[in-house]
Amino acid sequence: MTDGASTTGERAPSVAREPWQPATITAVSRLTSRVVSVTLRPERWRPFLAGQHADVRLTAEDGYRTHRSYSIASPPAAEGTLELVIELLGDGEVSPFFHEVAAAGDTVEIRGPSASHFAWRPEEPGAVFLAAGGSGVVPFLSMVRQRAHVTAPSPMALLYSARSWEDVIAGEELLAHEQAQRGLVVSFALTRQAPRRSSDFAARIDASIVAEMMARLGEPVRHAFVCGAQRFVGSVADLLVGAGVPAQSIRTERYGGS
Ligand SMILES: Cc1cc2nc3c(=O)[nH]c(=O)nc-3n(C[C@H](O)[C@H](O)[C@H](O)COP(=O)(O)OP(=O)(O)OC[C@H]3O[C@@H](n4cnc5c(N)ncnc54)[C@H](O)[C@@H]3O)c2cc1C
Repeated sequence: MTDGASTTGERAPSVAREPWQPATITAVSRLTSRVVSVTLRPERWRPFLAGQHADVRLTAEDGYRTHRSYSIASPPAAEGTLELVIELLGDGEVSPFFHEVAAAGDTVEIRGPSASHFAWRPEEPGAVFLAAGGSGVVPFLSMVRQRAHVTAPSPMALLYSARSWEDVIAGEELLAHEQAQRGLVVSFALTRQAPRRSSDFAARIDASIVAEMMARLGEPVRHAFVCGAQRFVGSVADLLVGAGVPAQSIRTERYGGS
């Protein structure tokens, strides 16, 4: 398994030599009660691949600085701006800033985009399986959105675990992409609520759900991406291996927390 970055941005290893640059916040909007979307316009635009993340650095009035990593939700096709989708950790340092303080016109610093190990390259042939837990869906929003711009894309399945429909990030948009994009399958696995559609699941992701999604994909999985909290990533990666997906085809990204 190709493992991704872990825990907080302080430990993100792959961006150490990137320069920081200013980025202007152009919009902040609420997606769920615990999640906001933040759109940034970096001073210098850099192309990126769907799945990559950027580091964001905040500086307090007294000069104290801290930074965290955030996956990019916008597709590479949306040149000029980057959308981040940030879940509130009430006792956290950085996420409360984006929920309670940040506003259009503010400036932060960013570094990256980086982490090409967790990137989807549409030109690579073969079916793609995406498994998200909670805000782990963010890099997959970029992939699904980018897929709409790709000619003859590979089949793609997104299996997205959330507590309830209210916690699902960009749910209506994902359903619209499933309708519009040939070869895209989207299913939600809700752990604390009955699902709306018969094609969704009312359970934590288990072997039978993985098998069902692989059947709907219709082709052997060539590229698997798993993103979410530590335990989610470990258990879903194990399920994929158990379902016959070669370990070297599975890329993971852990956001920290259990
Ligand atoms: C590659 C990557 C991509 C990511 N993408 C996203 C994304 O798209 N969206 C998203 O919401 N998040 C994402 N994250 C997570 C993000 O980087 C932050 O970790 C998250 O926003 C929390 O930051 P915070 O400053 O609010 O909380 P922090 O201050 O980092 O605290 C996090 C938790 O740790 C606890 N904690 C802090 N310090 C200590 C301590 N000394 N001892 C014990 N416990 C402590 C806090 O109580 C809190 O519960 C990503 C992480 C990585 C590595």
